[in-house]
Amino acid sequence: MNTQTDGLLIVGEDLCEQLVGRQQAFEAVQSVFGAMASGGARNFPVVREALGYADALYGFKSGFDQHGQVLGVKSGGYWPGNAEQGLTNHQSTVFLFDPDTGRLSALVGGNYLTAVRTAASSAVSIAHLARKDAKVLGMVGAGHQSTFQLRAAAEQRDFEKVVAWNPHPDMLPRLAAVAEELGLSFESVSQQELGAQADVVITITSAFEPLLMAGWIKPGTHLACMGTDTKGKMEVDPALLARATVFTDEVAQSVSIGEAQHAISSGAITEDAITPIGSVINGNHPGRSSADEITLFDGTGVGLQDLAVASVAAKLADEAGLATRATL
Ligand code: NAD
Repeated sequence: MNTQTDGLLIVGEDLCEQLVGRQQAFEAVQSVFGAMASGGARNFPVVREALGYADALYGFKSGFDQHGQVLGVKSGGYWPGNAEQGLTNHQSTVFLFDPDTGRLSALVGGNYLTAVRTAASSAVSIAHLARKDAKVLGMVGAGHQSTFQLRAAAEQRDFEKVVAWNPHPDMLPRLAAVAEELGLSFESVSQQELGAQADVVITITSAFEPLLMAGWIKPGTHLACMGTDTKGKMEVDPALLARATVFTDEVAQSVSIGEAQHAISSGAITEDAITPIGSVINGNHPGRSSADEITLFDGTGVGLQDLAVASVAAKLADEAGLATRATL
């Protein structure tokens, strides 16, 4: 794509939704995780600040994928008052730049892409780490991200059933509806029952205390812990990380803002026990080594994931002649 000669591409939310499906997001995220592990792509330090205005959190996630030739930044954050105005609380936009000249090449809506890239991340972990015979998918969380997570996970194994728990049970019907649409049976269960039944567990909540204890998880389970993306958040018992083999998108984020932050600070595990999933993707780590092993993916969410899916959206919109063009 050589957008800089033709002007800036503008790719709105609707177009992203129309063009970037789960498969494209899966491939883009898997590829950039591999590039990160081989040193061909790196994320830059994240900026995230409380504005002291509108209760908002605002920040930047940026990086450069030399392998994929993608340079850019996702800018946005969280405005808790938006829902009352009929807007999404999380708001973001991706800016892509030409890595050869630094010129802005595309502006891409980041809201839908954030959900689809986060779902792709846990789906990549399931594809590489879950047991092949996994039949029961456990969902902890029933918010905005959860249905994207369920749809993407359902494509990775021959699941028959979804068991779900959420701190706010009134939110569960939306997951039940998606499970039904996917032809999967659905059961609302206790946390202990979820651990006893699930072969794969996805956690996607805003919890600050453990929702699943280490002793509740059965041998052989794969967990994708996706909700913890900030200092202080926590979804599972830190002792579970000591019991599991831990993988992540990026080790630096896992130990500082991811699920592993607590197990690291208490000394339950050390940083060198955490493997970037890109090493598994690249064939440099075997991944799961036995049917009884518990594997845990700490999906913290990196800027390069956003840039990867935004670059797919820009490329497809450009090819289809659907994007708006502008000159700065
Ligand atoms: P949402 O507000 O739509 O849903 C929140 C979910 O967390 C619901 O299941 C809710 O019942 C639960 N919840 C709310 N407050 C809670 C509390 N105090 N304790 C336990 N559970 C609580 O949010 P969402 O958009 O679905 O996002 C869910 C989480 O995923 C958030 O923490 C968000 O920051 C995180 N997230 C992570 C990534 C990533 O890349 N890892 C990407 C996007 C979102």
